[in-house]
Amino acid sequence: MRKREINHIDDKTLKKWIEDEAMTDILAQRADVIRRQVYGNKVYLRGLIEVSNICKNDCYYCGIRKSNTHVNRYRLGKEEILNSARFGYELGFRTFVMQGGEDPKFSQDFMVDVLKSIKEAYPDVAITLSLGERSYEDYKAFFDAGADRYLLREESSNPAHYDKLHPKEMKLKNRQECLYNLKKIGYQVGGGFMVESPYQKTEDLIADIRFLEELEPDMVGIGPYLVSHDTPFMDFKNGSFTKTLRLVAILRIVFPYALIPATTALGTVNPKGRELGLKAGANVLMPNLSPKEAKKAYNLYDNKLNTGLEAAEAKKQLEKEIASFGYQVVDDRGDVSDFGK
Ligand code: SAM
Repeated sequence: MRKREINHIDDKTLKKWIEDEAMTDILAQRADVIRRQVYGNKVYLRGLIEVSNICKNDCYYCGIRKSNTHVNRYRLGKEEILNSARFGYELGFRTFVMQGGEDPKFSQDFMVDVLKSIKEAYPDVAITLSLGERSYEDYKAFFDAGADRYLLREESSNPAHYDKLHPKEMKLKNRQECLYNLKKIGYQVGGGFMVESPYQKTEDLIADIRFLEELEPDMVGIGPYLVSHDTPFMDFKNGSFTKTLRLVAILRIVFPYALIPATTALGTVNPKGRELGLKAGANVLMPNLSPKEAKKAYNLYDNKLNTGLEAAEAKKQLEKEIASFGYQVVDDRGDVSDFGK
């Protein structure tokens, strides 16, 4: 298998795979075989640090959108971020993901300082950023300061659907341009989308897969859309768990080399979400390293998992549980596979 082998599946087959409930187990089994060929039974952990829930955007689905006045807003300072990193490092985490709203106070200078400090203290970790759309110059400065990866879901690759999820200032074209800028700079890049976000059609999901085939992302993160009661989309329903599993499996089949998380949203929508996500081809988990108050206040949707195995402190227990599913947690940066290179 070459490094970037992509298995192109035609539209008709994809439509059946996405829509047909009866395909769930079949796709999961097929995906698991492929993941084992490329990554064995390894599961990589990323310590998630939710750095700020302050956001200048107003995405209609998101609990931390700027118009939501019921959010207890916070922003971590440098020391708090470094403390979370130290705590995570001691537990064995070798990737940190700094995720947050598009918070204007996270200036280029501030981020560069934080990134350099983490890399100086822990040269063997990888740092992933997920801070939304920024200028080329910011992305470049972050990369030069030590950021390795960037997660930026495209959310929807159909511009008409994208416009239904976002206010008019936000444009799919900008988001896609950011993804290409990140690639050009040298980041390992992650795209992705929510499954059954409001107004989403099967054709929109197929458009996402086509966009990702073009982008060749290193990582793909997906999860079900989950209702947040303080948003304009509060009356829509949660995305389907099994459809999300089918899409995880489809992504593994199409992108055998990719890093694919079993996301917190998947674990929130179903108690066995993360286990079944791994069994459907996912190979990454993102336990939460954020300080306690931040964990509580970073509510993108209702009923977010907030006690138990998604907490980074529970790493030992998590390792045991993952082993009982037939996989093995490794303390490793977990870069994208160069299998067969
Ligand atoms: N601001 C950054 C960005 O825009 O990429 C990172 C933070 S953003 C809150 C992270 C992801 O959360 C989004 O890409 C979106 O897919 C997901 N998300 C937001 N609201 C959600 C919801 N109601 N249900 C499920 N996922 C949601």
